[in-house]
Amino acid sequence: MKDGIHVAAMTPVFPGSEDAAGQPATLGVMGGGQLGRMFVHAAQRLGYFTAVLDPDAQSPAGRVSHHHIQTDYNDPAGLSQLAQLCQAITTEFENVPAQALHVLAQTRPVAPGAAVVGIAQNRIEEKAHFAACADLSGVSCAPYAVIETPAQLQAIQEDQADLLPGILKTARMGYDGKGQIRIKNAGELAAAWMELGSVACVLEKMLPLTAECSVLVARGWDGQVVSFAPQRNVHVDGILAVTHAYEGNMPSALATRAREAAVSIAHHLSYVGVLCVEFFVVDDGSPHGSLVVNEMAPRPHNSGHYTLDACDASQFDLQVHAMAGLPLPSPRQHSPAIMLNLLGEVWFDARGQRREPDWTAVLSLPGTHLHLYGKLQARAGRKMGHLTITGPDVASVKAVARHAAGLLGLPGLDAI
Ligand code: ATP
Ligand code: MG
Repeated sequence: MKDGIHVAAMTPVFPGSEDAAGQPATLGVMGGGQLGRMFVHAAQRLGYFTAVLDPDAQSPAGRVSHHHIQTDYNDPAGLSQLAQLCQAITTEFENVPAQALHVLAQTRPVAPGAAVVGIAQNRIEEKAHFAACADLSGVSCAPYAVIETPAQLQAIQEDQADLLPGILKTARMGYDGKGQIRIKNAGELAAAWMELGSVACVLEKMLPLTAECSVLVARGWDGQVVSFAPQRNVHVDGILAVTHAYEGNMPSALATRAREAAVSIAHHLSYVGVLCVEFFVVDDGSPHGSLVVNEMAPRPHNSGHYTLDACDASQFDLQVHAMAGLPLPSPRQHSPAIMLNLLGEVWFDARGQRREPDWTAVLSLPGTHLHLYGKLQARAGRKMGHLTITGPDVASVKAVARHAAGLLGLPGLDAI
């Protein structure tokens, strides 16, 4: 223990090194989506070999990795192959079974660990954790109640009317607003719970949000922590549409509090790796509103993609450093940035006909950085890529972002 922080023993895995058997230093990732792909790019740039475990032969990360193990996440042979190939392992996908990480941790350093990933995968445990460290972080979550039984449902209908209107969210497997139903009154609650399969849920009070933001923290095996300034996020239909990353994107007092809260949440979990904590800014009648913690992602996050182009170390660089036991550089943002998410809709016109976005026009705008994830089939709501705009000042970044969003027919334009 050092300053109340557990210090775990971890022999650094240096890029370019070989183990006793002459095997090159290799980092592994559970999950082969776009986050895994950007992790692989960052690891390879440093000189590591990479291995991805994902059942999908077409997975975005599997396509660019030295090794792609195409098995189920729980397959013992696949997990053992990953452990044999890699000196350290991370995860990129919200719902990789915590049990699989637990199995890997028997023989390899795994960051983040199975226990914290398990907490983040279950809204009930996640909220209990936020409540447990609210004194330390200074930020609580939205008022909520757990619904796991018909009796709990009835009790809410009878005596917890103050949670309504609210949002019923499944405890597990929710992402991009999936597994959520908005409830206006007690009469709608039972039907909504049935619609979600009567699985374990939380009912959360609907809060008057004025903004949303998130904070990325990286914590090493030795308890060292670095963080990025909060980014402000705009969602459309429950999916992140725009991230604003520049000074003045939110009131500075709130930004400082959010950053400190995220760091204390990471410490409280003895977290190792990159953690994203999402916050709401709630209208409480005060000039700037107050902060409420929403949820955390035990991995890099969509709202941190701008760090690839606007910072001297990206969230993926920090993921690599943290898991491998390398020093964590304190990231410095060198340009204001706006990130626009590119969903499948961008590849279809108003009549539903497939079209090629006008990349010539978009890429001739100054400071545009296009990232496509190598997904072959565009579908509505599917995250296909993102466009980051950087520039010398916030006004010019906003002007270019507005122009690019108009050319691509993106939503959330009025929020830029
Ligand atoms: P993701 O994984 O994409 O972040 P998710 O499916 O886990 O999303 P949440 O982050 O819980 O879901 O909610 C999605 C969005 O719904 C939030 O970003 C916010 O805009 C809105 N929302 C969620 N909970 C509340 C609440 N209690 N009050 C008001 N709005 C809310
Ligand atoms: Mg969320």
